[in-house]
Amino acid sequence: MTAANLPLIFDGHNDVLLHLYRSGGATASDSFLTGRDGALDVVKAKLGGFGGGFFAVYIPSPLDNAFKMEEMEKPTYDLPLPEAIDWEDALPVTMAIAAILFDLESKGALKVCRSVADIRNTLASGQMAAIFHIEGAEAIDPDLNTLDVLYQAGLRSIGPVWSRPTIFGNGVPFRYPSDADIGAGLTDHGLRLVKRCDELGVMIDLSHLNAAGFWDVARHSSKPLVASHSNAHRLCPHSRNLTDDQLAAIKDSDGLVGLNFAVAFLRQDGRMIDDVPLEQMLRHLDYLIEHLGEDRVGLGSDYDGAIVPRDVTTVADLPNLRVAMAQHGYDDALMTKLCHGNWLRVLEKTWGS
Ligand SMILES: [Zn+2]
Repeated sequence: MTAANLPLIFDGHNDVLLHLYRSGGATASDSFLTGRDGALDVVKAKLGGFGGGFFAVYIPSPLDNAFKMEEMEKPTYDLPLPEAIDWEDALPVTMAIAAILFDLESKGALKVCRSVADIRNTLASGQMAAIFHIEGAEAIDPDLNTLDVLYQAGLRSIGPVWSRPTIFGNGVPFRYPSDADIGAGLTDHGLRLVKRCDELGVMIDLSHLNAAGFWDVARHSSKPLVASHSNAHRLCPHSRNLTDDQLAAIKDSDGLVGLNFAVAFLRQDGRMIDDVPLEQMLRHLDYLIEHLGEDRVGLGSDYDGAIVPRDVTTVADLPNLRVAMAQHGYDDALMTKLCHGNWLRVLEKTWGS
């Protein structure tokens, strides 16, 4: 397999919309077409064979990100969770960030896909395929009216929580070493959210949920269990990573885990330091394949949301990862599954088309 015929990548998580929102919204979205100082844009996507993925709408907390990254460089850390955000405060920000996604679509940078057929057609056309995803359900009201309306607007994936609490459940703090067994499970609102998402065909993202919430979704959802951007806890004992029993449940449900490139979730020592060799990413992929099977592993880069290994700093560098995967012994069929096929398979089962 040569660099020229590497399979396209369809990816489980990026935070580029937050960056565009912070740097001026619609005026900044032009930079997504022409090239920007960041991990993901149209120009770099073409270079790296990045076909698209989940575009997260995330409401920033008033948290000093530089402080967080500095703390996470230490041998152990336990960052306090930011305060919950009220619906009244979350909704306008969600609208503003989602509007950037639709602005990118109107400018021809990407297509917001509502079905797997949409994704396949968009990838085949050479345009970027985007899934409208909400990371942390602060913008959803207890009656779920907002969910119904956002679904009609194109929402197809939701995380009940980013790490801070919502009316639906509790997430994990950025804590190392730690498992995710922290706090209570889903609330009654959370259980109704799961039910309504299943009815609509909205994927529930388990990344960031605590263990009790994970098992509540496992018990109550009829759909495959998906963690869009998380790694193997056995190889990196971080609160954000998945234990072997969680992986077994995901396998049983015919779900998927997307490999997170964030170095703090890859490294054995959990530190947010970027000198991570590609071999460490392959170790997690091997482990996930061993525990989930070849059909239930994908990528979930966290581009523009995390510090990633130097060899894959931006989407333009993605050929480095795929060449390493091929040299590691993954055959053509497995490469295609890991790069995009498994994501399309699980979305077909989750969305129903
Ligand atoms: Zn995340």
